[in-house]
Amino acid sequence: MSVQQEIFQMIKDFETIIIHRHERPDPDAIASQCGLKEILKASFPQKNIYTAGSFNDGLKFLAQMDKVNDNLYPDALVIVVDTANVTRISDEHFKKGKKLIKIDHHPNDESYGDLLWVEPKASSTSELIVYFYLAFKDQLKMTTEAARLLYAGIVGDTGRFLYPATTAKTFEIASFLLTFPFNASLISRELSTISMKVAKLSGYVYQNINVDENGAAYVLLSTKILQKYGVTEFETSAVVSLPGMIEEVLSWVIFVEKAEGGFRARLRSKGPAINEIAKRYDGGGHLLASGAGAKNYEEVQKIYHEIQDAAKKWRDKK
Ligand code: AMP
Repeated sequence: MSVQQEIFQMIKDFETIIIHRHERPDPDAIASQCGLKEILKASFPQKNIYTAGSFNDGLKFLAQMDKVNDNLYPDALVIVVDTANVTRISDEHFKKGKKLIKIDHHPNDESYGDLLWVEPKASSTSELIVYFYLAFKDQLKMTTEAARLLYAGIVGDTGRFLYPATTAKTFEIASFLLTFPFNASLISRELSTISMKVAKLSGYVYQNINVDENGAAYVLLSTKILQKYGVTEFETSAVVSLPGMIEEVLSWVIFVEKAEGGFRARLRSKGPAINEIAKRYDGGGHLLASGAGAKNYEEVQKIYHEIQDAAKKWRDKK
């Protein structure tokens, strides 16, 4: 029996299913979570299916979370999507479920759950949810709303089909989803729309980026700067990909000072892998897109130096 078949069997065995994903969700986290819920609800109307986790209003055009009563967990199947490590799962209650399944497309740095299905080559967890649907399509129903969500997840995690994890399979899946009558151009617009204050912060990022001779770059967004532009730590997501558009930039890190002290480090690369660097600073993620933490300025400098080393080694090899 394949792991997908085992997962499907477990889904059939439970009356209550609660779907979680990572904290500070991005479109793929919300879309794979709520897209899976939509498919399961349409296919098994008698089951009780919920989505759980902290939410941010910026993604409310995608979906909303359910209110989940704590006493549902002991008899529930918990499915966690798009989350590599246990510490990043949003809402601690996931631990109280009867069985746990992990479905993810990040490198499997931490194996958890009774069943786990991890495909690091997939563009997004939303793409995986569509594979799952296709594997059991004689028993599952795809709805227009599920297709809308899963398409949004793929568009979000591939940067609109830009990043290298975008494959022929990704386009095949997107093409299948587009056969449903949702407004795809509206989704793309919603995902790329920014507020005026984030537009102004983008200007700051371009004005203040530091790039070395090998293309290693960094920008530091201090609490003072965030206050000046009136943006929250979460809203900085929209500026993380911007340095990648600069020809001279190969790998970069955006440091965002946290209200509680320390910095969030968001690492990206067009060449050298940066996830091993992230792992050394309490983080992780994909080869070319990772997150980590710096406790102080000294660690900020250390992370940037490691990015510089990686960029230099990469350029020396070319
Ligand atoms: P971000 O910079 O938060 O958009 O994260 C980029 C990628 O790294 C995402 O795939 C995250 O799931 C992953 N990531 C971010 N922070 C962490 C962390 N602290 N530990 C493990 N993975 C992380």
